Amino acid sequence: MSRSLGSAGLLLLLAACATPHDDPFDVPTRPVVYKTPDCPTQRRPRPTRSLDDPGPLPTRAGAPAAGRIAVTHAGVGTPPELSDGAERAAKTALDAMLEGQPALEAAVAGTIVLEDDPRYNAGTGANIRLDNATIQMDASLMNDDGAFAAVAVIERVKNPIRAARLVLDSPHVLMAGAGATRFAHLSGLEDVVPVSAEAKAKYDARLERLKAVYEADGSLEFDWKKYWNFPNALPADMEAWRHGGDTVGTVARDAEGRFAATLSTGGTSVTLYGRVGDVPVYGAGLYAGPAGAVACTGKGEEIIRQALARTVYEQIASGISAREAVHAAAAEFPEDAAVGLIAVDRAGWGVAANREMAYGKAIESSAP
Ligand code: ASP
Repeated sequence: MSRSLGSAGLLLLLAACATPHDDPFDVPTRPVVYKTPDCPTQRRPRPTRSLDDPGPLPTRAGAPAAGRIAVTHAGVGTPPELSDGAERAAKTALDAMLEGQPALEAAVAGTIVLEDDPRYNAGTGANIRLDNATIQMDASLMNDDGAFAAVAVIERVKNPIRAARLVLDSPHVLMAGAGATRFAHLSGLEDVVPVSAEAKAKYDARLERLKAVYEADGSLEFDWKKYWNFPNALPADMEAWRHGGDTVGTVARDAEGRFAATLSTGGTSVTLYGRVGDVPVYGAGLYAGPAGAVACTGKGEEIIRQALARTVYEQIASGISAREAVHAAAAEFPEDAAVGLIAVDRAGWGVAANREMAYGKAIESSAP
């Protein structure tokens, strides 16, 4: 596929690759993922699992709900035992709305709580990258009026979602790297490296696990050493690395029926310096519009290829419930890649992941 294909071209291409789908159990009547196996956007084999038989999803929830609502996730792969922080974040977002804050500010407040929890890969708990030193983070937000703002590979801030919120009030949509970091500091955010004991422990554990995997199958997906571009030296004991991710996010619906979504991540740890995931890419990690809000977590490269949040949003806008839309998207994602989604629409909420995933929800009232 041409690398110069723009987002409009990509959407057209996805539409051209659409396939009809018949009435599966508990999933949308149309597929969330529009690609056929020979679609030129396809860079890897499609999953064998059909939407008629989505298979067991380890994380699957959702229901009708009225009034103000906030749903959060703590990243795909995060065990449900760690849901208490996600529940606290959802309650913070709901409380903000009960105090009159709009959905956007509530979703920011929810994600700040998640960023401040060192157990999750964002803000204080953000992944330490391959060099055992660098922390680069992405964050984004979107309101249902189309307002979008993001920071990419930002360093030395405690709450990247606050930096994204500052970008929203600037002339820009996306700021990256050293410029984003300086902009955040000039705007009043503290200059702090958000390294935590939890992130250090995760780095050590992951190194051991990945070394064991490498020794077991003897293969490398990518020659990390050859393309080493970190400012710091290659750790002497590094043998091989694989994906290690997670992200945190919040979706919210306020009293006026407005929607918003926020995301923040320490990114995947097994990446080159400067790698950007799905979170700050428009339409990929999150999306919000008049019909609802969607936020994702998982393998960023695949989420970008699928323009996943926007694709799921379009399903919701076409009348499919948030619950059904996220369930189908998780079921259809390549099985060897982790994904999780949360969504709210006018009638309710949905959560789905093809791995375990800690999430939280705070609801003003059940639907009539
Ligand atoms: N989506 C994130 C990224 O690719 C990581 C994750 O959610 O696991 O940066």
